[in-house]
Amino acid sequence: MLNALTNVPVHYLFPGGRSKAVTLSYDDGAVDDRQLVAIFNRYGLKSTFHINSGGLDKGNRIAADEVKGLYAGHEVACHFYNHPFIDRVPPAKIIHEILADRLKLESIVNYPVRGLSYSMGMHNQTAREIAAMLGIAYSRTTFSGRQWTLPENWLAWNPTCRHADDDFLPMAEKFIAGKHPFSLFYAWGHSFEFERLNNWKIIESFSEMMQATTASIWFATNIEIFDYVEALQRLRFSADCSMVFNPSVLSVWLEVGDNSLELPAGKLTCTN
Ligand SMILES: [Zn+2]
Repeated sequence: MLNALTNVPVHYLFPGGRSKAVTLSYDDGAVDDRQLVAIFNRYGLKSTFHINSGGLDKGNRIAADEVKGLYAGHEVACHFYNHPFIDRVPPAKIIHEILADRLKLESIVNYPVRGLSYSMGMHNQTAREIAAMLGIAYSRTTFSGRQWTLPENWLAWNPTCRHADDDFLPMAEKFIAGKHPFSLFYAWGHSFEFERLNNWKIIESFSEMMQATTASIWFATNIEIFDYVEALQRLRFSADCSMVFNPSVLSVWLEVGDNSLELPAGKLTCTN
């Protein structure tokens, strides 16, 4: 019994039994998001848009009344109301920056806004603790981890790379070709970079390449990745992994041997 079970590999999978996921994050709410969203929608990709809502309706930023419609189907998340260097301001200011951003964005999109990205990429322990206390589930850094792994600390979530990195498309090709189970590709940037450098073709090529993989790669927003992984982490396995109870409201998937197995929400499933 023990032998048989230890010889059967059990791995996490993404929804639909997919072994990989792609998520994206674009900051600041620039007007060029209009073109970027159109590209993502054309190819079925999902992105999170991290918005410092104090900048809405100003300069090259989109209008507040445009947010809900433009980003429908994607995630709207926080980016600190006034976009400060948060490692240089007092805790009270950090509290205000996150809370004001959440309140404003939630009043616009009408759902709980639980994601964050650090403005200028700056963060410290105080900021991470305050974010958690204010109901933030995850926060993205600007450090390119250049890995396919899920974060150890969701409040210091290092993306894989920027779209502006020289090897962005080769990295994406490598990710698609790779055999790593349960791997994540996370790219980020600002849409105004495409307009400034007149290189929209980079994200078009990326999106087209990814669209061809939809059978094996899950396209998700940042918070969808977080919620799904949290549901996986809540699974209650028997010691020999032959039984597993899924207490969450989401179905999750496992690879058991060569088969993918759906674990319906609220149900006990036998894996053998
Ligand atoms: Zn920013």
